[in-house]
Amino acid sequence: MRYSQTFIPTLKENPAEAQVVSHRLMLRAGFIRKLTSGIYTYLPYGLAAIRNVEQIVREEMNRAGALELAMPMVQPADLWKESGRYEKYGPELLRFTDRHDRESCLGPTHEEVITDIARMELHSYRDVPVNFYQIQTKFRDEIRPRFGLMRGREFIMKDAYSFDVDDAGASEAYQKMYDAYCRIFERCGLRYRAVQADSGAIGGNFSHEFMVLADTGEDTIVICKDCEYAANMEKAEVKLRGGKADAALLDMEKVETPGKRKVNSVCEFMQISPSQLVKTMVYLADGEPVAVLLRGDREVEEVKLANLLGAVEVEIAEDKQVFDATGVPTGYLGPVGISIKVVADQEVMTMTNFVVGANEKNYHLKNVNSGRDFEVSAVADLRQITTDDPCPVCGGTLELTQGIEVGHVFKLGTKYSEAMKAMFVDADGEEKPLVMGCYGIGVSRVVAAAIEQNHDNDGIIFPVPIAPYKVTVLNLGTNDETITAAAEKLYQELKNRKIEVLLDDRDERPGAKFKDAELLGIPYRLNVGKSYLNNGVIELVNRRSGEKSEYPLDQVVSVIEQEIASQTTS
Ligand SMILES: [Zn+2]
Repeated sequence: MRYSQTFIPTLKENPAEAQVVSHRLMLRAGFIRKLTSGIYTYLPYGLAAIRNVEQIVREEMNRAGALELAMPMVQPADLWKESGRYEKYGPELLRFTDRHDRESCLGPTHEEVITDIARMELHSYRDVPVNFYQIQTKFRDEIRPRFGLMRGREFIMKDAYSFDVDDAGASEAYQKMYDAYCRIFERCGLRYRAVQADSGAIGGNFSHEFMVLADTGEDTIVICKDCEYAANMEKAEVKLRGGKADAALLDMEKVETPGKRKVNSVCEFMQISPSQLVKTMVYLADGEPVAVLLRGDREVEEVKLANLLGAVEVEIAEDKQVFDATGVPTGYLGPVGISIKVVADQEVMTMTNFVVGANEKNYHLKNVNSGRDFEVSAVADLRQITTDDPCPVCGGTLELTQGIEVGHVFKLGTKYSEAMKAMFVDADGEEKPLVMGCYGIGVSRVVAAAIEQNHDNDGIIFPVPIAPYKVTVLNLGTNDETITAAAEKLYQELKNRKIEVLLDDRDERPGAKFKDAELLGIPYRLNVGKSYLNNGVIELVNRRSGEKSEYPLDQVVSVIEQEIASQTTS
């Protein structure tokens, strides 16, 4: 493509509305333009990157034996009522009525539609296993759309749905998709991790999220340096080290601690370490106050607490709510004689002779011991994991990193097939519900995540496989016949070898061309200018490493061809 004939409207300034890197660079590099909140037009350059991701996704889904179809975006509300999600899904489901007053919605996901297909068409065990997928625009009415394609309302998604006769078959389908996803993100040239999205309490791993690693990611992930373990922070299991210390239990004592309300000030005053103190935090679990005990230097993981209590929502109580529930001012709470329900982090049970609040202003208790001095109604892993904790799988060293969720594989079981009566007849003539799995990839989000992971101050640094153009040829002397002829020759040669190339033939200063080339993130750049006139060489610049090298005109295309081949897998 010639730059003069394409449409890549680059911006010199950072747009004020963009808070994250990918949004900023997508606007500046002429990828997208906003139509309205959370809804964007994909301009030619952005669409080309999206199509490259789609292509890899499609090839790998086909390789895994999934069958492509296309389901409607407009869905009848009745189907959603059958699955029970019409009420449950909440305001993210955009509902409307048509001219005949029929209730409808815009598909945020397609479990209902595909299950409707299954119940009409899959009748016998001979009709399965089967896995259907589509790559399609979805709509979710996000309350606060932001960050460009990272959290839009309309987005492109690949969704797949598998049907099997039993859980063993569903596990096989799940594994196939898991493997396909690994291939997809590898082929896209992205650093990623598959993380357990659930602790697997229902038996084995039945949900994984695929995260692109990027400092700007919204999710914190724990990864092991020594094995493949990776988990969401909120799910990462803390492995308890050591049992209860074999120390003699000392007599409990009340100590005056005037004005000492914070862990640090109490510890300083009493000359103890925070690991010898147990703090008492009051949470509201669906409105009910609960006291949570944990070591002074630890933090509560609210998702773990909600799971233990079976609560939909837990939030830390405000000072007034704490006082109303316990009659004690914040800072002096403790488990001894407290009037509300108490739960404890497992680590507290290994501690002896520790310090707690005395449930009285300006007082703490020392030499407190669980069992002897107070009881708790439940003990569990309730705290946030830290890099000081061992890997729960191999005991190795953990590190925390940020990630962007781009894919999710999930075993659905018979939730939808039972609700919507998608039954098949097995080999014994018995009627059973189909066993399902669902598998999503946010295709447009992958491109945003790729930019979050691969950029510098000058712009995007595309991984080769998803770059809309692999090479840009800069004609740095559009008024010079020799330079122009050389640039045209390179352009033709690259096209002949089926390498996607952008020839910058615009009547612009070299500086402007360099800036745009960096911004667009095209992996390889060929400068055709003075050094060609003087020495007959073309300068090759690697966008990622910044490395510059010079080659004779008749060799440089082969060099690039090899470079590209080394970074592309099929
Ligand atoms: Zn490990």
